[in-house]
Amino acid sequence: MRVGFGFDVHRFAPERKLILCGVEIPYHLGLLGHSDADVATHALIDALLGAAGLGDIGEHFPDSDEKYRGVSSLILLEEVIKMLSQNGFKFVNADLTIVAEKPKISPYRTAMKEKLAQVIGCPLAAINIKGKTTEKLGFTGRGEGIAAYAVALITHA
Ligand SMILES: [Zn+2]
Repeated sequence: MRVGFGFDVHRFAPERKLILCGVEIPYHLGLLGHSDADVATHALIDALLGAAGLGDIGEHFPDSDEKYRGVSSLILLEEVIKMLSQNGFKFVNADLTIVAEKPKISPYRTAMKEKLAQVIGCPLAAINIKGKTTEKLGFTGRGEGIAAYAVALITHA
């Protein structure tokens, strides 16, 4: 068994879609980034790469690469799952915490879990997603952006 941890932050920007775990969430702001800026999926990808000892998201999918402009982060996650299997690893489970003052995460949790489980090819119960606020403190509390944390467990296939 191997464990990995991931963390990511993206700032809010106008005229962007808000995508979290592959689900589009209705909100007047989206997240800024080279890809779809899916902060939660990015944290999960870093947790998986960390568990496998395969570096980080920026190394595999650099911002400088036009190929990844506007790309769905679920495509990147799919690539990472392939990398895991090429390296003899199998996904076990993941736990994500999404830190946002607004919008509320809980109504979208099931849809998010379904998207991730579909890409990973795991049971729904192997993914857990939690939404948290920071009690109006800090950049997340001021509604300047969203942070996400993830831990993932993998095992030798
Ligand atoms: Zn990111």
